[in-house]
Amino acid sequence: VLVLAGTSEATDLAGRLDRAGVEVISSLAGVTATPRVRAGRARSGGFGGTAGLVGYLRNERIDALVDATHPFAAVMPFHAADACAYAGVAHCRLLRAPWVPEPGDRWTGAADLVAAAAILGRLEPRRVFLAIGRQSAPAFRRCRQHWFLARSIEPLATPLANCIEVRGRGPFEFDAEVALLLEHRIDLVVTKNAGGVATVAKLAAARSLGLEVVMVERPAAPVGVVEVATDEEACRWVEATVRGAGGGYIPTSPGPGL
Ligand code: NAP
Repeated sequence: VLVLAGTSEATDLAGRLDRAGVEVISSLAGVTATPRVRAGRARSGGFGGTAGLVGYLRNERIDALVDATHPFAAVMPFHAADACAYAGVAHCRLLRAPWVPEPGDRWTGAADLVAAAAILGRLEPRRVFLAIGRQSAPAFRRCRQHWFLARSIEPLATPLANCIEVRGRGPFEFDAEVALLLEHRIDLVVTKNAGGVATVAKLAAARSLGLEVVMVERPAAPVGVVEVATDEEACRWVEATVRGAGGGYIPTSPGPGL
């Protein structure tokens, strides 16, 4: 089973499958220099588009693929869906449920990072907590009127002006999140709607302090793909699939080079 990784669920799924006696290969994009240790085999780096992934599925004789990439991975889910349909490999996406606002939340939705930056661009100077990951921060480089606190696992790909960086990898606790927001006198939080429990504490902290949140919505995803929400469900899907059931995605085109 090939697990496209990059999330805590992917790490948990590799452990679950390994314990169940399944030969599992976790695939990482290679963007994090110190990824978590996980059960089974691991590989790193892109496959070389859809055609490269088809070749990998065939060479490694993959029976089933679980796409457990992050909800904001915008490209890999399409490559996975097309490659699996083309190669006849069963495929499902492990996608955690998005967060939904609760009473007391002050969220403004943004369709994507560009829209979020446009919202910030219209505001008077604020002290902004950017909790969006190291690769997404450059979207805010023109919002020079604001001061930023940016948290990421590794240094920002492109440093921002007026920005302090803090290193952090979830899970994060409510008390520590409140303390961080107070220490830096944050009055606006920008986050992606990643969902899950590991990084949700910042939203509870923002709610408790009455802070505004700009919530970036998820990118488009391939339609017709079997979806599961937890690593436990994904494991059950693998067991059922290896016994004969499969996914139902039909690609719109075979993609370049296929
Ligand atoms: P992306 O836009 O969907 O993918 C860009 C390219 O990176 C893909 O075309 C593929 O290259 C390669 N790639 C992505 N995931 C891969 C994987 N698991 N194994 C091998 N190659 C992979 O993804 P992204 O937004 O750059 O994210 C990269 C990784 O970071 C993903 O694994 C994702 O789960 C994780 N991550 C992303 C975010 C986020 O906010 N975007 C947050 C946390 C973690 P080829 O076309 O050459 O195969």
